Amino acid sequence: MMTREDCARLDAQDDLAELREKFRLPEGVIYLDGNSLGALPEGAVNTLSKTVEQEWGDGLIRSWGEADWFTLPERLGDRLGRLIGAAPGQVVVCDGTSINIYKALRAAMAMRPDRKVIVSEQSSFPTDLYMMEGAMGADYSARLLGRDGDDLGDLIDDQVAAVLLSNVDYRTGRLTDMARVTRLAHESGALVIWDLCHSAGVMPIELDAIEADFAVGCSYKYINGGPGAPAYIYVAERHHDSARQPLSGWWGHAEPFAFESSYRPVGGIRRFLCGTQSILGLKGVEAAMDLFDGVDITAIRRKSQLLCDVFIRLVEQHQDCGNLRLVSPRDADERGSQVSFDFENGYPVVRAMIEQGVIGDFREPGIMRFGLAPYYLRFTDLFDAIEVMADCLRREVWTDPKYTAREAVT
Ligand SMILES: *Cc1c(COP(=O)(O)O)cnc(C)c1O
Repeated sequence: MMTREDCARLDAQDDLAELREKFRLPEGVIYLDGNSLGALPEGAVNTLSKTVEQEWGDGLIRSWGEADWFTLPERLGDRLGRLIGAAPGQVVVCDGTSINIYKALRAAMAMRPDRKVIVSEQSSFPTDLYMMEGAMGADYSARLLGRDGDDLGDLIDDQVAAVLLSNVDYRTGRLTDMARVTRLAHESGALVIWDLCHSAGVMPIELDAIEADFAVGCSYKYINGGPGAPAYIYVAERHHDSARQPLSGWWGHAEPFAFESSYRPVGGIRRFLCGTQSILGLKGVEAAMDLFDGVDITAIRRKSQLLCDVFIRLVEQHQDCGNLRLVSPRDADERGSQVSFDFENGYPVVRAMIEQGVIGDFREPGIMRFGLAPYYLRFTDLFDAIEVMADCLRREVWTDPKYTAREAVT
């Protein structure tokens, strides 16, 4: 049996324990939802208030130049690139993930004009599939892993223009082997777009080394950039001259302030910008990057894996948790930074846990999902959270209608 003292010992040995001080966390809350919305970095409070009061309030329009607002998307892109294995000049922080998926897909499709098939996965995060539907004209078709095949190798051939996949399955936390899939796609002449929403910031990613073509991701989950923070897009440098994205707005123009009447894309990654960016949103990402600058991402990954292992162990040893079935891979090397359990009454249990200050989330169908952010979680937090979970299970909270009614955002 693993005890609370064992967890306290792990906390005492945790080299990353001090990182917790860099976050502002509410009293009495154990936050197991870092994969939906990261916590507030302490530095963001200052960065955002300085931006509002000095740069916006005093600087006004001058701040586009004096506070360097105009170059923020690529400056932040270079800093974020370090987390995903991208050398400078290949990432911009901008727009939303859904929009960046559209840009990357359409750019990839235009680079392979004779091919009319897009490959993805039936269990993808829905917006990825929705954006794919929107990007495909009538002459395109989709092949989905899980519907049209069991193995990507069977789906990728010389008809495929692009492969759009997530690094981590948002329900189960299962990792996809990015190097293998990228190689497979390239062997057939297809381009690959990686969605890093659930992996960037909690594990090393090597986009350049695996020769990825495109990648997108959001910065409000494990990156802690704030609610609705701008997303990012990576385009490998070798594609910069040939890749044209469809949202050809003035921020991607070669000379935005020449006010020419037709579009001429700028060289480099900036051509993947569309229009004026949310500076307040970008400043949240800047505060998150200040925090990540000193952090060793391999140490983050080690702690994340141990947190998940301990979480699984604590749930499985608890007699009141006997009905939960692990749906995440047991092997830490095949798993992202989340642990998910299948349980038919998962929704009311998650609701009741939240009422007691333990915040996890729920995904259809019947998945209780816990995203364990290694920057601010302690092992004793996991122990205490599972005591609360076990209590909700013991009390059979799903018999109380108060917990079964669905909220608008789950
Ligand atoms: C969270 C998430 C998104 C979110 O897209 P938005 O445009 O930011 O709403 C997209 N894809 C995946 C895989 C996600 O996990």
